[in-house]
Amino acid sequence: MSDHEFETSAFIRSKLTEWGVPLKKTDLKTGVIAELDSGQSGPTVALRADIDALPIQETTNLAFSSKNTGVMHACGHDIHMTALLGAVYILTHQSIDFKGKIRFIFQPAEEANEGALQVINAGHAQGVNAILGLHVKPGKPVGNIGLRAGYTAGSIDKFKVSISGIETHAAHPDQGSDVIVALTGIVTALQTIVSRNVEPTSSAVLSVTEIHAGTAWNILPKTAVFSGTVRVLEKKERELIRSRFQEIVSQFSSAYRTKAETDWYVGDPAVYNDPKLTKIVKNETSKFAEVFESRAELGSDDFSCYQERLPGVYAHLGVGETGEIHHSDFAPDENAILTGVSYYVNNTLRLLGELK
Ligand SMILES: [Zn+2]
Ligand SMILES: [Zn+2]
Repeated sequence: MSDHEFETSAFIRSKLTEWGVPLKKTDLKTGVIAELDSGQSGPTVALRADIDALPIQETTNLAFSSKNTGVMHACGHDIHMTALLGAVYILTHQSIDFKGKIRFIFQPAEEANEGALQVINAGHAQGVNAILGLHVKPGKPVGNIGLRAGYTAGSIDKFKVSISGIETHAAHPDQGSDVIVALTGIVTALQTIVSRNVEPTSSAVLSVTEIHAGTAWNILPKTAVFSGTVRVLEKKERELIRSRFQEIVSQFSSAYRTKAETDWYVGDPAVYNDPKLTKIVKNETSKFAEVFESRAELGSDDFSCYQERLPGVYAHLGVGETGEIHHSDFAPDENAILTGVSYYVNNTLRLLGELK
């Protein structure tokens, strides 16, 4: 699981050491960073695979099911890291000539939305000219690669609103100020932000996912709390939604004679594929795989934190009809791994040749 990838990191380290790949010294608690240096001056291309699992009890009954109770690779990160290990193996076992450096980032804690920042804060994105990542994509043919220039996955913000009023007997609402009526009014009004304020052709989602209030059927409570998340592709929508959110919460709460406090947690930015690099990667990938145009979606990936600092490409890897990620029976077709290996190897060599 996120930040508990101790044995996974030890396994990766042992393989890299066995293959003679120099490991980078790191302050990371989990995760592994390594680098191949050609000895010839040139750019540095980084390859990232996330390595964490999820707190889900696996029900696939596969021969290689998780042996850890309540923990499984329900997001396909085992495929990502295996593909990257395959790429390391090829790059170290075949006499491939290249200029520059190739950095391998086996990143922890993607599911916690913090691993990429841990890697960046530990200095492991420094000196990198381009970064490549991928994610399994259920519902697409095995080994097909999806690419899209520009925004590909959403930014992720979280909010929590606490409303306070005056507690009173359910039969005497006039003597208090009802936080439940205020909360439902606010939650309903918030739904107008995406439908009335966001440009109709833009992508945005605002979901209230938790509501907590009350202790008894005959008391109007003093406090009510709700929380949820906002996902968008573009920065301007992200700012617009946040300011409209504050406006609605503050004005509605005072209209209902209550007080509201908002905690807003700014999460990862949107995944943005550098158009120039994406064009090169598309061209290279079409030589060994069927390429499809990825759809922009509002799920998130902290790969975006690298892309905020340096150009990168995030691809989708088709893994067949397997059901959705984050489900206990998620079983991506492992035949996709080979294409994942080629994605990493071929595109790295191409980019090292093209980047100055
Ligand atoms: Zn996931
Ligand atoms: Zn994932």
